[in-house]
Amino acid sequence: MQNLTDKELIEIINTDKYDEELFNKADAIRRERYGTDVYIRGLIEFTNYCKNNCYYCGIRAGNKNAIRYRLTKEEILSCSAEGYALGFRTFVLQGGEDPYFTDDKICDIVSSIREKYPDCAITLSIGEKSRDSYKAYFDAGANRYLLRHETATCEHYNMLHPSSMSLDVRKRCLYDLREIGYQVGSGFMVGSPYQTTENLVSDLRFLQDLSPDMIGIGPYITHKETPFADKPSGTLELTLRMIALLRIMFPYALLPATTALGSIHPEGREKGLKAGANVVMPNLSPVRVRKLYDLYENKICTGDEAAECRVCLEKRVQNAGYKIVTHRGDVLR
Ligand code: SF4
Repeated sequence: MQNLTDKELIEIINTDKYDEELFNKADAIRRERYGTDVYIRGLIEFTNYCKNNCYYCGIRAGNKNAIRYRLTKEEILSCSAEGYALGFRTFVLQGGEDPYFTDDKICDIVSSIREKYPDCAITLSIGEKSRDSYKAYFDAGANRYLLRHETATCEHYNMLHPSSMSLDVRKRCLYDLREIGYQVGSGFMVGSPYQTTENLVSDLRFLQDLSPDMIGIGPYITHKETPFADKPSGTLELTLRMIALLRIMFPYALLPATTALGSIHPEGREKGLKAGANVVMPNLSPVRVRKLYDLYENKICTGDEAAECRVCLEKRVQNAGYKIVTHRGDVLR
């Protein structure tokens, strides 16, 4: 199944008749490579300011009703300390493209975490930057970078983003990150407005070319304060099918069972794990800001303290038949 043609992929994506076979195959492949291990990443959402205006995003600059926040360096370090005590060995610093956080500030935060926790992986997810900026963060101690391409089809990209953004720049960023030496994560939304099956096939082909270590996908979920307020959300079924296909096509990849998946179905993350996902990303951000990192509506896990999130996820992972491990969780190529 690893060498499927475009025509075969389209047929599989468009029907539920192969689902059982797909999920079984995906689970067998993940068990062969990763056993029942599920890696955890501690997510710190440190700013919801963003200069961009992606049409699907609840914290886009144009949403004047969003209540904005930034964490201080001290708050970020305190989230990391709490996470470390709970067993996290990967911290993911995620935020909008916030010009307040200059390269110097990011490097300072990264190097402080690196100094305190030399045994941890530091992941950044802060959008499009110049190659020099990426290199500076890498030299300061960042190891991994997440930047979803969202859609690999130019016309579709332009339907989801204003003209100030371009797919070429997004791709350039991803190849720069890979060349610098980061472990790179990319990915896309499932069921985003105007998406066709052919678009999804292009996403898979682009990922085959990029060969990222991590691939994050989740259903598109509508946010009422965006130009896509009237567009329907993506479905659980199609997202699970795409996760299974990714596991089959990229046996080595780190695939998160995302919060978005858990937000469209109470057992979305468990189902994601059974379809081939092997990473979960509990939230370490202070509870007071959780609801404000409002990318889409009805986001789950906005009320629990980090320790509670950790326990809750541990149980969910166990119930799905897997187990959380607390080491760095590097990719097994
Ligand atoms: S998707 Fe990211 S870059 Fe786009 S508006 Fe939202 S936070 Fe900003």
